[in-house]
Formats: sequence, C-alpha cells, structure tokens
Amino acid sequence: MIAAGEVIERPASVVKELVENALDAGATEISVEIRGGGVEQIRVADNGYGIPHDEVELAFQRFATSKLSDASDLDAIPTLGFRGEALPSIASVARLSVVTRHADDDSGTRLEITEGRIVDRQRQGASPGTAMTVRQLFRNVPARRKFLRTTATETSHIQNMVTRYALAYPEVRFALDTGNSSLLTPGSGSLREAIAAIHGLNVAENMLDISVVDERSGQSTVGGVISQPALSRANRGYMSFFVNRRWVQSRMLGYALEQAYHGFLKERRYPLAVVNITIDYDQVDVNVHPSKTEVRFRSGDRVFSAIQQAVRQTLTAHSP
Ligand code: ADP
Ligand code: MG
Repeated sequence: MIAAGEVIERPASVVKELVENALDAGATEISVEIRGGGVEQIRVADNGYGIPHDEVELAFQRFATSKLSDASDLDAIPTLGFRGEALPSIASVARLSVVTRHADDDSGTRLEITEGRIVDRQRQGASPGTAMTVRQLFRNVPARRKFLRTTATETSHIQNMVTRYALAYPEVRFALDTGNSSLLTPGSGSLREAIAAIHGLNVAENMLDISVVDERSGQSTVGGVISQPALSRANRGYMSFFVNRRWVQSRMLGYALEQAYHGFLKERRYPLAVVNITIDYDQVDVNVHPSKTEVRFRSGDRVFSAIQQAVRQTLTAHSP
C-alpha cells in the first residue's frame, strides 16, 4: 500500500492512470464519469483494444505489463504506461470492477477485485473496449483519506487532468461527467477545436501557434499554441507541457516559457499554453518516478532554448 501510494495519491491519479491505459489501447473515445470527487466512484470507459479473456487477471498482477518485452525497450518507450503498477495499485486501495472485451474474443470478461483480491470473475456480453469502475477509493487506507480535500477540489484536479489529455490528444473524443458539470471534446484532431470545447471559442480564436523545426531532421521539435499576451492569466495553472505526448511537470520547461513570454508583457502574468515537445526517445528519460510525470533531458539547455525561440518568434511576429 505504501508503494501504491506513490502511484495513487488522490482520485485524479486514478483517472490519469486509467486514461493513459485507454490511450495506450488505441482508444478514439474515452469517457470519464466521477461521483463524489472520484472518491465514491470513477468510471473510465474506452473503445480501445480490450484485454484478451485469458490475460485479464494477469493485468492486475504487480509489474505485469504488456508494453515492454525486454529491458532494452526501456530506452525507447512509446507508450504512456510501462511499469505495470497502476492497476494492482488501484485495486489494492479500492473496489475495482472491469468489463473488457478484446476484438478477437466473442464475449467479454467481468472481473471484480476488492482490496487486491479477486471476488468475482465471469464472461459477459460487451462491445470491444474496456470499462473500469473504481469505488470507495482509500476505504482501507484512512491515512490517505485524511489528506483528501473537499469534493470540489478533488473534482477540479480531475477536470484539470482530463483537460490536459484532451489537449494532448485532440484526435480522441473525451467526455467528462462530474455529476455537476460535463465536458465533451470533438475528437477532430484539431488542437484549436479542443481548446474551443474546453475554454470557449473566443479563447481558441485568440491563441497563437508556436513552432520550432529541427534543421537536421526537418521535424517539429516544439509545437502547440500560446495565448496572446492580452489574454494572459494570473497563474501558472494554464500552461501544459507534453513530451512525446506524455504530460510532464517540469520547472525548467515552465521557466523557459514564462521568461520568454514575460519579455512581451508589462505585468507578471502567464499564458494559457499547450506546448508539445517532440524529441528522440534516447534524449529523454521518463522512468524517474512512479507517477511518470517527471522527465530528465539529456540536453535540457537545448530544449530550454527551443521553447524560448518558439515563443519569441511568434510573439515578435504578432506584436504591434
Ligand atoms: P502499464 O500501463 O504500465 O502496462 P497497468 O497496470 O496500467 O500497467 O496496466 C497493466 C496492463 O493491463 C497493461 O499493460 C495492458 O496490457 C492492460 N490494460 C490496462 N488497461 C487497459 C485498457 N483500457 N485497454 C486495454 N488493455 C489495458
Ligand atoms: Mg498503465
């Protein structure tokens, strides 16, 4: 349970892990439904590959992952998951039920797990894809429950989490239902349309594209959008960074963006920004922490200056 706590800190961590699994399964539609800030219930349903009947139980064993075949794969991780820790961790601190059907199976599987033990397993009709329902999170971990905030706060952490993935994966249709509010993105592939669904059309229309193309490879290394300085925000919470489509938290990346942006602003305000960094897998290490939101770059200074260059080019071109 201590190890589980490194991966599952709060309801939003459950949502993160389940959404990442859905994305890794190639889902084009992901729906997230929560009740009671996610403590009462979290349900994530996807239309991805599903789990074959005879592998469902394995998926809940610690360090079981279908995403790596040998240790050298760790140098180039194209999937969001790879540690095989999320499902057993979630299952050890909640009641979990999964209904999944692999496209090659003619029926689905239903598995119920309570505090890490399988309590029910049966065949069940289902359409291809996976639905995981997590109930009574931390029911057996009072210490963890004590650190939970209000329903409204936990709900907003979940909203932020889903919003981030909706921005990083504009080709996926995301639906979020919190009990009081809902969000639906079109899944059209357009980042601006995703922003419009989340922040409104006016905001989306006033975003500026940023881009830096690597001279050698001809590929974009920094892409995304930032808000015009006039639409800047009072806090840093609207800046999101993705490295090879994985959401990351990094002071260094935040600082690079802020510093360049502040050159074009009189007040200390922050952009709404979605920054996508594409980098060779061997130039970045994501296996730093179980939550996989920390990254280490081999040449951090090059990434830093690429972000600054992208921001400065765009804002210079648009300044009066
Ligand atoms: P990891 O994502 O690191 O492999 P998890 O514990 O999150 O570990 O998941 C374990 C395994 O369960 C995955 O490797 C995958 O094979 C399977 N799995 C989990 N969620 C899904 C899903 N939504 N669709 C298909 N397979 C899934
Ligand atoms: Mg996973």
